[in-house]
Amino acid sequence: MILYREGLSSGYEIEMLSRMFFPVLTLAGERTPFPPPPQEDWLLVRAAPDGLSVVLSRGGTTLSERSPAVPMEEQELALARMLFRCAVKSGCVPLRWGVLTGVRPIKLFHRMAAQGLDDAQQAALMRERYLLDDAMISLAQEIRRSEQAMNDRSLPNSFSLYVSIPFCPQRCSYCSFVSQEVERMRELIGPYVEQLCGEIGEFGGIARDLGLTLQTVYFGGGTPTTLNARQLSSLFRAVEKSFDLSHLLEYTVEAGRPDTIDRERLLACKSAGVTRLSVNPQSMNDEVLAAVGRRHTAADIERAFELVRSIGFESVNMDLIAGLPGESVESFSCSLERVLALGPDNVTVHALTLKRASTLAQEQELYERREQVAAMVDHARKRVRAAGLAPYYLYRQKNTIGSLDNTGYALSGKEGFYNVFIMDETHTIFAAGAGAVTKLRAPRGDTIERIYNYKFPSEYLANYAALKERKERVKRFYETHQQTEKLHYSDV
Ligand code: SF4
Repeated sequence: MILYREGLSSGYEIEMLSRMFFPVLTLAGERTPFPPPPQEDWLLVRAAPDGLSVVLSRGGTTLSERSPAVPMEEQELALARMLFRCAVKSGCVPLRWGVLTGVRPIKLFHRMAAQGLDDAQQAALMRERYLLDDAMISLAQEIRRSEQAMNDRSLPNSFSLYVSIPFCPQRCSYCSFVSQEVERMRELIGPYVEQLCGEIGEFGGIARDLGLTLQTVYFGGGTPTTLNARQLSSLFRAVEKSFDLSHLLEYTVEAGRPDTIDRERLLACKSAGVTRLSVNPQSMNDEVLAAVGRRHTAADIERAFELVRSIGFESVNMDLIAGLPGESVESFSCSLERVLALGPDNVTVHALTLKRASTLAQEQELYERREQVAAMVDHARKRVRAAGLAPYYLYRQKNTIGSLDNTGYALSGKEGFYNVFIMDETHTIFAAGAGAVTKLRAPRGDTIERIYNYKFPSEYLANYAALKERKERVKRFYETHQQTEKLHYSDV
């Protein structure tokens, strides 16, 4: 599919939406002839002073929509709706999240609720303005309420701490994170842990100076339990020494893979006060695990889970991915049953995210997979709920099959706070380590500022002085926004 855009101020949303329908998309440049040769499919999205138009030529059939001109700020959304309708008329399956392309759809529901719109008004707006499917509207409303109750527990001037451990035993074939194989990084790990302890200490000093309260700690990656018990303990000690932990709502460590879980590491977590652990099978089908490059079996997951339970953590999460290679709807449903039989407190169901398709055959395959993956996601929604876990947070990723979502489910009272705080951008997240992104949230208003760390462990180690300098921005940000807050009061 070739996408031609004319007269649009940005065109980014149109490109994103087009990719959701047509993963193999070529953007027309100035020299791309129009119309293209007859065998090509094409899409023309045009804004002109006399009106808007979308023309879709697919498989030899041409469809179009036209509308009068609209104000500039409404233009791209109006064209997105027209594109959506043309794509569906041409035989594409409607996208459940309508024309929304962002990763945080629930934030829109929070915004509408804050403006005083009730459920019916929100539903009408999302249906008409963004073309959302009714099932997604009800799901989003339910999740918004659950998130709101959790956001209400976030104290004024609070923050969370994220610690990045970007190492794994081996890389899984579907992985989209920056994670390094531990064997290749062996030399770097000792210095990495040491520098990370130093960075945690820096954040501790900043938090003290600014009078901020730490509410959640999250060790993610990668697989943090790739580190040994001694390395983990030194990081835990750095956290304990640097922050007041008396207001913590939750302390999470991702122990994603069973081949990194042993008694010693778990005891290190337990004695540091870790309350929440993630044991992530992704699938309980041994053939699928082998196909994606995981060198462990479903039985290893079960053993690791029992060990975690025997040591006793308040909450244990398990992740599954719908749509892994070789996974059918039936085998996914068996995976889910094996996971539920273990009795986890949280289950997170992800829809597979793919590297971009580059051939028509891949597009076709994606299209066929989309229906299957949607069936897996739908099955999980019903079955996990029947097991007593309710949806409590949701996000989307770019390039997810069928533009589906990732949803976290939890037993009542076992919801993961960090997941909600990061998705809703509820408060500041200080993020330490390679690939980590600190997100500063103004005490008032919606201002967000990001500070990026270097992506790879070697760059992170080589550029610590630059990272320290970047942290100056934290204090500047709080000074600016606290001043704004005072101005705001005196203005009133
Ligand atoms: S365990 Fe997770 S982070 Fe590590 S390679 Fe696999 S998917 Fe990526």
